[in-house]
Amino acid sequence: MIDFRSDTMTRPTAAMKLAMFETAVGDDVFGEDPAINELERRSAEMFGMQAALFCPSGTMTNQIAIKCHTQPGDEVICDVSSHIYQYEGGGISFNSGASVKLLTGDRGRITARQVEENINADDVHKARTSLVSLENTSNRGGGSCYELEELQQIRTSCAKHNLILHLDGARLFNAMVAKQQQPSDYGKIFHSISICLSKSLGCPVGSVLLGEKDFIKKARRIRKVFGGGMRQAGYLAAAGIYALDHHIKRLEEDHEHAMQLSEVLMQKDFVYDILPVQTNIIIFSVKDPYTSKSFVEKLKQNGILGYSISPVQVRLVTHLDISPSMVDKTIHTIQNL
Ligand SMILES: *Cc1c(COP(=O)(O)O)cnc(C)c1O
Repeated sequence: MIDFRSDTMTRPTAAMKLAMFETAVGDDVFGEDPAINELERRSAEMFGMQAALFCPSGTMTNQIAIKCHTQPGDEVICDVSSHIYQYEGGGISFNSGASVKLLTGDRGRITARQVEENINADDVHKARTSLVSLENTSNRGGGSCYELEELQQIRTSCAKHNLILHLDGARLFNAMVAKQQQPSDYGKIFHSISICLSKSLGCPVGSVLLGEKDFIKKARRIRKVFGGGMRQAGYLAAAGIYALDHHIKRLEEDHEHAMQLSEVLMQKDFVYDILPVQTNIIIFSVKDPYTSKSFVEKLKQNGILGYSISPVQVRLVTHLDISPSMVDKTIHTIQNL
């Protein structure tokens, strides 16, 4: 099967497994896992941030950040399609007792102006707006990414109104490769950043939360409360270190593959409304004779897996385990549908 359902489907390469197998480990709850300490130090340094925290998932890094940055009753500003709101099990209210102000951005991207217009007045009737959370790349936006100038403007608006700015950077490396941006650009703009190692970087498990020393100290406590304090998890961190060294630049290849697939889809009569491909995600709508379910089924009969994300929309994601020959085979299959 050629699996385009998600970039979480990757399996560790032989070289990554060797790095995992050979690492030294210790008890991380005691702060004694050398691989985790190294991964946290390396990633903080990379982003020019003070400290980092290794966690089991991107949901946990986001939810810890929201918990640290808000008080019960506060309000979080985010795009309506945000992962933190749509796909984290209602965690914003469950974990933090916070409410949300949902904005409709451009393919998941909101603007400084929208943020400013949606900050609640200092009024007893209103929830206290305390946090703005952005997503880059935007998953439901079809892998869309922000320009740095827009992010800087949002940061300026946040500073003006005393708001904290968090980034859900599950696929931030895709954005940085596509836009030729540097991690330090992001470290300067955001108070906290969550990155996933288990997505396009090809690790089996793991996310990293970045921020200032005091924030990470608090986050470490919350991680324990959430049940995310792991012991000899350095085996997983070793995969992360390996990925930071070897799996970033190659994302260009995934982006190229996604572009090739979108070009062939565009030529089909039953495909309409393909979101512009900027990174490794392709979201498109299908019509007669297909529904998204029947189209996904048709692909499956041809040994290709995609994901139906709405009655008409299909998502394909390219990643480390998709080879050029798999892309060729998929293009050939689509051409003959
Ligand atoms: C996958 C993802 C996450 C985190 O998901 P986990 O499966 O919990 O690691 C967060 N944000 C976005 C945009 C994602 O795509």
